[in-house]
Amino acid sequence: MINMKIRKLVAMFYSIYLIKSGKIEKTIKKCIEKRLIISVYFHNPSKKLFEDSVKWFLKNGFQFISVQELYDVLKNKEEMPLKKVLFTIDDGWKDNKINIVDVALNYNIPVTIFATVEPINTGNRFWWSITNEAYKNKIIKENINEIKNLDNNKRIEIVEKAKMFIENKVESLNRTELIEISKNKNISIGSHTITHPILTKCNNKITEFEIKMSKIILESWTKVPVISFAYPNGCFNDREIKYLNDNYYKIAFTTKPNYISKESKNHLFEIPRFDVLENVSSYENICRMTGVWFERKINKKLND
Ligand SMILES: [Zn+2]
Repeated sequence: MINMKIRKLVAMFYSIYLIKSGKIEKTIKKCIEKRLIISVYFHNPSKKLFEDSVKWFLKNGFQFISVQELYDVLKNKEEMPLKKVLFTIDDGWKDNKINIVDVALNYNIPVTIFATVEPINTGNRFWWSITNEAYKNKIIKENINEIKNLDNNKRIEIVEKAKMFIENKVESLNRTELIEISKNKNISIGSHTITHPILTKCNNKITEFEIKMSKIILESWTKVPVISFAYPNGCFNDREIKYLNDNYYKIAFTTKPNYISKESKNHLFEIPRFDVLENVSSYENICRMTGVWFERKINKKLND
């Protein structure tokens, strides 16, 4: 807890330094020169965090691009548009309805929500929320990172054990809410699998089922084709890309922090994104969503 507070503080001062030293302006210039699209993702932000983020980009002269528009640009090998930003949201949290959808409608911006089918269908808690609470209460001994590294069957075993001791609570949107949300012209729904497993830890059969069925179910609910996918925990290999392709997805999003560039035209199933965090300073999030926070990582990759 204390460590988290220290981290937040150190990161805040570092971010203020980055902002004051003109890094943001430099980055915006770089995005214009190299025609880079900024790609940002959220999970369960407060209304203030989400609205402030929208306002920040609008104030700085950016326009929002939808996943469909992005796909068209990349697929048709069109010239990369200038000063565009893409907002996507993972998991399908209940509060997205007020904190994201209402804001998207107010500001008339496109947003894609990647929905996890099973919690939406059943009202079950997200599995990592169950195991996190169980770990905190010493019911299980594995922390979240250890669990994510386990074979899928072993992970399920631990989740099932934890479930017996931890109270259920509704964390995700429900089916009616998702359908209602999907009717807004500003909102598109993508898939985030059925149960949010770590796909690279699943066998072929489960992986294909998660990818294929989530699309079929979401489409049966919303009556709109699902073209996009976000990898749970950002984990994927060539196998996952093959199943996405086989099942008529058109574009998929990773958690690799980078800009969308003309290179992305050849990697439609590996679109990068910058993550915005819910428990850090607003200064840090400005640095995160502009990519300034990840600059060293990105430059290293460019030079590799
Ligand atoms: Zn997720």
